[in-house]
Amino acid sequence: MQTKVKRRPFGNTGLMVSEVALGAMNLRMLKDSDQARALVHYVLDQGVNLIDTARAYNGVTQSGEPLESEQIVGQVLRSRTDIDEPIVIVTKGHAYTPEGFDEDFSASMKALGVEKRGGKLYIGQVEIKLVYFFHGIKQDRWQPMVETNVIEYAKKRQAAGDFTYLGFSAHYGDGEQIKAAIDTGAMQVVELPYNVYNRSIGEDGAFDALSYAHAHGLAIVNMKCFNGNGMVPATKIIQEVCNIGHGDMLRFSLSNPNISCVDAGARYIEEFQADIDASLLEPLTAQERQALKDKADRVSGLFTDICRECMHCLEKFECPQGIHFPTILGIHARYSMAKALGVDAQAYRKQYQELSGPLADACVGCGGCSAWCEYHLDIPAMMQKALADLDE
Ligand code: SF4
Ligand code: SF4
Repeated sequence: MQTKVKRRPFGNTGLMVSEVALGAMNLRMLKDSDQARALVHYVLDQGVNLIDTARAYNGVTQSGEPLESEQIVGQVLRSRTDIDEPIVIVTKGHAYTPEGFDEDFSASMKALGVEKRGGKLYIGQVEIKLVYFFHGIKQDRWQPMVETNVIEYAKKRQAAGDFTYLGFSAHYGDGEQIKAAIDTGAMQVVELPYNVYNRSIGEDGAFDALSYAHAHGLAIVNMKCFNGNGMVPATKIIQEVCNIGHGDMLRFSLSNPNISCVDAGARYIEEFQADIDASLLEPLTAQERQALKDKADRVSGLFTDICRECMHCLEKFECPQGIHFPTILGIHARYSMAKALGVDAQAYRKQYQELSGPLADACVGCGGCSAWCEYHLDIPAMMQKALADLDE
């Protein structure tokens, strides 16, 4: 397909992928499924050839319609007859044993509508290169993976042609498991968080997972380039003292040579087009890169230990007290940043007080939520702090 979007090698796979990929996590946040399908069509029309989805990327649209990201991606690809190259589809499951793997993998294949024909994989008439991930590995998930030898099991499924490449995603603070997973030699692709404000999984970490993965031939999909869903309003506050725009953040990630593509979780066509436009600008020079780091470092301390409203925890967990804790913690994060930056924070207290449903005072501190937080947050303690700061 003719495309102006730049492409890069996808690790040692021999594939070239668009520098900007579609992160399909946010399709569930759109008005309805028509809007979601329109975005997927649009990115394919621009020559984007990697779509990142997951079994868990389900939700209810603004119009109240249940939406599964994998289903939307499958529907769009089945309707296309004009795509003349394989599309890379990344999907992932929260299963860490062979039995769980089978269950999750089958559900994903059904939702996407993947068919095996003549030794190749297709969705409708579109050939795909299917990347299957262990979703969000971390210590308590890595242990059953080792005990049940699920990676060897996955390799057999890969050898049988059920998917093309094996990989995993992981978050900040999971360096030990990232290294162990790469060291198995079984992984060809990894998805990791990295952005100008938080380079701890890259060049500034005790373990530079990006360099390590790249040196081992893995393709790297960069998530959280924009610091995560809930960080958009927070970034607006930060911009009052630190003028780093969305385009700058994208170009910063792309200036890391280890990265194969940035997973842009844009929700709207205009946002995605802005990402493509930024990717087409000249690469940052070493001086420009350093200048962005210097600016970001003035405020990056404000981003540690806050809820990013990524909603990953809610994909598998519901608070027994019915508290929508990411919303409360997200408001509290913005309140805290505004206070730290000397910006008026009262609007966030009002926003909290106008929320419907149980608030921070309903938290019994059971800690069930923390086990599902991708960022290892001490949520009970944070709820106490939110209560102290935001309650009347
Ligand atoms: S610690 Fe609080 S917010 Fe978390 S699950 Fe328990 S009651 Fe809900
Ligand atoms: S509590 Fe953790 S996993 Fe849940 S939304 Fe916040 S940052 Fe994401």
